Amino acid sequence: MSNNSLYRIAEFWYDKGILAIPVIPFSKVPCVRWSHFYKFFPEKDILKVFFPNDDFNIALLCGENLTVVDFDDYDLYLQWEKTSKGIWRAVINHGMKVKTPRGIHLYVKTTDEKEYSRRFDPLCVDIKAKRGIVITSPSTHPSGEKYHLINGDIINVGTTLDVFPEINDKTCIIERIESYERERECNNVKSSGKIQDIKTHINIIDIVLRYTKLKKGYDGWYVGRCVNPSHKDRHPSFVVNDNYQLCKCFSTNCALNSKWHDVIDLFMIISGTNRHEVIETLYSEIAIKTI
Ligand SMILES: [Zn+2]
Repeated sequence: MSNNSLYRIAEFWYDKGILAIPVIPFSKVPCVRWSHFYKFFPEKDILKVFFPNDDFNIALLCGENLTVVDFDDYDLYLQWEKTSKGIWRAVINHGMKVKTPRGIHLYVKTTDEKEYSRRFDPLCVDIKAKRGIVITSPSTHPSGEKYHLINGDIINVGTTLDVFPEINDKTCIIERIESYERERECNNVKSSGKIQDIKTHINIIDIVLRYTKLKKGYDGWYVGRCVNPSHKDRHPSFVVNDNYQLCKCFSTNCALNSKWHDVIDLFMIISGTNRHEVIETLYSEIAIKTI
């Protein structure tokens, strides 16, 4: 009979209907093929095979009994925490959580059958649901830091879809940016060489950094407080992407909310001037830079 501590932890999860699997120490690489365990939940005896001793990291299979809201960035989590309401207050106050080296995982249950794992880049949030796995306590991160369990209830939140409205949107953010870019390209054919020069030589991130601090996310994403002077943004609602050179504010009361904006649109709103003046101003900056 295995009685080591990882076995007992795996048993704790098993009794909640959640399968724990062994992971190579100091890594996130599972030691077993796990995808077929979504089709059948194995007998408890398998845990003896999985955890003969404590020399492993440990991961949980998400699904019916566990959805994990994974914040990669603890500061962004604290911002979200301040503004979240309803059932999420209960999760924040007495829900089960795991503190990770960089962020935090919230352990909840969801009832929506359609909820698959998905990602929301601007806030560095993953929702790990069906077919997702999550490294859990007491694993050691590749950096050498530990995962810590904050014990509590696995609260049924109904659906995670209302937490981050952008996830709820059936059209993915990237798809929308791409369609916007295609529209832009058509317009650019008609536009003057000055606009092309501005877009080649001026990075939207540099312009934004003149007005606000930004936090770096994945794949060229940055998030910060909105740069629109008429929007008093109390928590970061503004996102900008280095790869696409586009930005947007998620607050519905903001002029930067309606669509994705390029550097010229953005500067029009920041400076309160018209398109012609903005093009002249930004173009003169390039002229100075390239002297
Ligand atoms: Zn805004």
